[in-house]
Amino acid sequence: MAESATLAMAAKAREYKANGIDVISLSLGEPDFKTPKHIQEGTKAAIDEEKYFAYPPVNGYLDLREAISVKFKRENGLDYAADQIVVSNGAKQSIANVMMALLNEGDEVIVFSPFWVSYTALIDLAGGKSVFIKGGIENDFKVTAAQLQSAITNRTKAIIYSSPCNPTGSVFTKEELESLALVLKANPNIVVIADEIYEHINYTGAHASMGAIEGMLDRTVTINGMAKGFAMTGWRVGYIGAPLWLAKACTKIQGQFTSANSSISQRGALTALTTDLTPTVEMSKEYLRRRDFVKELLDEIPGVKTNLPLGAFYFFPDVSDYFGKSDGDNVIKDASDLCIYILDNAQVSLVTGAAFGDPSCIRISYAASESDLRKAIGAIKVALAKLS
Ligand code: PMP
Repeated sequence: MAESATLAMAAKAREYKANGIDVISLSLGEPDFKTPKHIQEGTKAAIDEEKYFAYPPVNGYLDLREAISVKFKRENGLDYAADQIVVSNGAKQSIANVMMALLNEGDEVIVFSPFWVSYTALIDLAGGKSVFIKGGIENDFKVTAAQLQSAITNRTKAIIYSSPCNPTGSVFTKEELESLALVLKANPNIVVIADEIYEHINYTGAHASMGAIEGMLDRTVTINGMAKGFAMTGWRVGYIGAPLWLAKACTKIQGQFTSANSSISQRGALTALTTDLTPTVEMSKEYLRRRDFVKELLDEIPGVKTNLPLGAFYFFPDVSDYFGKSDGDNVIKDASDLCIYILDNAQVSLVTGAAFGDPSCIRISYAASESDLRKAIGAIKVALAKLS
């Protein structure tokens, strides 16, 4: 396996910190909020009940799967019964299970690019092959039905995308998903893996699910989880709704790898999914406020081209105007060089777009405080102005 492309950056950032130099990290996909209080309280109450200390069912507690089934129906228009749901150690394990269950050696998965880094690593691990179709900044990084059509071969087993998207913040509308679904309907054996983990951080007010499009549910795996919308990254709860045969296969695999998701985390997830969404809505409003001022700050930097992300908490600016420029000592060849340059000169850590399939871009997470964001982007502006 290839090492994570962000490790060199992380190691360098640690070196700075060890030497007492503050580094602002805008490289993490991690909410900077605490898990809402009522979820903490619900979990403590579950511990006090002393009923949740033994191995849980492999696919998750029935009451949690029922609550997820209700959530899918109410919020997404998706009809997955409780036995079509598998709860895992984060959405990452959910995706790993699906890839291992689905792929034989050489099977192709069409990955909408830019893409979340782990998709390709997990496809590789399962013996599959990633086939990329790429959306450019001029189309808000979104692929079209024509691109999907042209990538399909007789080895295509599945497609995978995230909406809202990590790393671009792009959101597919219902109409766009419908046009992709038209292509898929002519290819009924292709499984859709729709990663909707950022559904609550969506500034359009309308989250659209592929599985809710007529005729698509029985071939669509919907990935979701507690990490982003509920600020519960460390609790490690992800889940899928899937066709029954695939849910059963994922359960079998999970039974061998991890037995189940942590019992106590599942009780926290149950509280989150059966109580008030107000804290989730409030967090999303705060992300929107940050998106707006970060957009203004980035637009003031020459040579940094951004679109307007409609969800998640990332910008994915094209910085290729800086390639070939120099600070007098080093020439910036690509986005990785630029990230290192920014770390060295602005003490801000970012991630190169190469890790997500677009080497012209860098990813900036705005899941950080307003003061850190303002300080970091100010320092990036000053550092970039020194390149010519
Ligand atoms: N999908 C996407 C698009 C993500 O950004 C992430 C987390 N960075 C995940 C899945 C995995 O989430 P979890 O923490 O639940 O494993």
